[in-house]
Amino acid sequence: MIVAKRKPFDEIKELLKSYKKVLNVGCGTCVAVCLVGGEKEVAVLSAEIEMARKLDDNPIQIDGYTVERQCDREYLAELDEMVEKYDALISMACGVGIQFLAERFPDKPVLPAVDTSGLAVNQAAGWYEERCRSCSSCVLGWTGGICPVTMCAKGLYNGPCGGTNKGSCEIHKDQPCAWYKIYERLLRQNRLENLMRVHPANDWKDQTPRTLIQPGYKKPEN
Ligand code: SF4
Ligand code: SF4
Repeated sequence: MIVAKRKPFDEIKELLKSYKKVLNVGCGTCVAVCLVGGEKEVAVLSAEIEMARKLDDNPIQIDGYTVERQCDREYLAELDEMVEKYDALISMACGVGIQFLAERFPDKPVLPAVDTSGLAVNQAAGWYEERCRSCSSCVLGWTGGICPVTMCAKGLYNGPCGGTNKGSCEIHKDQPCAWYKIYERLLRQNRLENLMRVHPANDWKDQTPRTLIQPGYKKPEN
C-alpha cells in the first residue's frame, strides 16, 4: 500500500493561514490503513487547527469529510456540491489523491497535510517498511521476488558490493544484505543461473529502505 506521514503541524498551519473556511478531505483507503489520513485523523487534525487558530485570535471554520478513495473520480463526485462553500481544501490523501483532488477543483487551493513516503508493507501496528520504489522496470522475476532497488542500499542490479558482510549490509548493520537474501532465495529455488544475467546499471544514489513508524507506535523489541 501507499504509506504517508502527517506533515509538521506548523507547516500545515502556515499553508492555511489566510483561509477562513476550509474543508479537510480524508481518504478511506491506503492512508487510512497506515493511520495517517482516514476519518479519525481528519477529525484530529481539524480539531487541532481549530484550537490553534482560536488561540491565535484568527478563527477558522474547518469541516471534515472522508471519501472512500481520493484517487478515484467516482468518489470525488460526492464533493462537487460541497466544495463551493469553502475557501480552500486540505487533502490528507497520498500525493496521487492530492493531485487528483486539485485537478477536479482547479479554482480552489488544495493544500497537502501529509507527506507520501512510498510503497510499503505493514510489519506491525504503526510500522511500515518500504518494499518498492515504483521503478517501472521490475526485476523481481530474476531476483527471487526480492527488490534490489529498494532493499539494496546501493540499488545494485548485478550482485553484492564489496561491503557485504556475513549477510549484513555495509551501509547499515541492522539491514540484511539484499543480495545475500537474493542468493539464498535463488539457491533454494534452484535458480542460481539468474545471477549470471547482466542488467545494465542505473544511476541510483546511496539509500537504505525507508521505514515509517507512526507517532505513538514503536518498533517491537526483538
Ligand atoms: S524492481 Fe523493485 S522498485 Fe522496481 S518495480 Fe520491482 S519491486 Fe518496485
Ligand atoms: S552490502 Fe548493502 S549495499 Fe552492498 S550489496 Fe548488500 S545490500 Fe547492497
